[in-house]
Amino acid sequence: MARYTGPVCRLCRREGEKLFLKGSRCLTPKCSFERRAYPPGEHGRDSQFRRGRASDYLMQLREKQKARRIYGVYERQFSRYFRRATRQTGLTGTNLLVLLESRLDNVVYRLGLATSRVQARQLVSHGHVMINGRKTDVPSALVTPGDIISVRPESMSRKYFKELRQDIDDRQVPGWLSLDVKNLSATMKNLPARDDIDVSINEQLVVEYYSRR
Ligand code: SF4
Repeated sequence: MARYTGPVCRLCRREGEKLFLKGSRCLTPKCSFERRAYPPGEHGRDSQFRRGRASDYLMQLREKQKARRIYGVYERQFSRYFRRATRQTGLTGTNLLVLLESRLDNVVYRLGLATSRVQARQLVSHGHVMINGRKTDVPSALVTPGDIISVRPESMSRKYFKELRQDIDDRQVPGWLSLDVKNLSATMKNLPARDDIDVSINEQLVVEYYSRR
């Protein structure tokens, strides 16, 4: 399935909550969901009043779609993450979230080097980020504990990164990462625990969705 290239805010309205896909705009009154908190489409406004109790399947499907949209992952890639999570020890749902959190684009976003995962993906795919000193332009690359994520020296002189060094707040960085603001370099200390992952996803519903198939 191709990547969704339509209006991003529509996805938040479809899922019925803010998914924070547009960086700082999401925190302003310009947020579409603040102004139109009903599903998109011609009958969206009416359907919010007509809706009865959603079926179990619908809730599971929506939760899976929400998770996919938050992390910006293709359908096929997402089901690959799920299969990988089932092969690991521990809770499959938690394993799935940990895998998603370990993606390079997500780590760049969590470090505050980008205001959204979309922007983080762009920074990575444009070759501004390195893992352990090697340029990595694959947003889905998985970061493992001990890995050092840094901005490429050639990119440090860019206006974006110069301003970022002044503005970035390392207090926002989650405990499983550590950031050296001066050098825009970070280390993954350990994999995140479920409590460290502040996304509004009920991963159990996602597990149930795939268990039906
Ligand atoms: Fe969602 Fe952000 Fe758009 Fe608001 S501004 S609807 S939170 S993507």
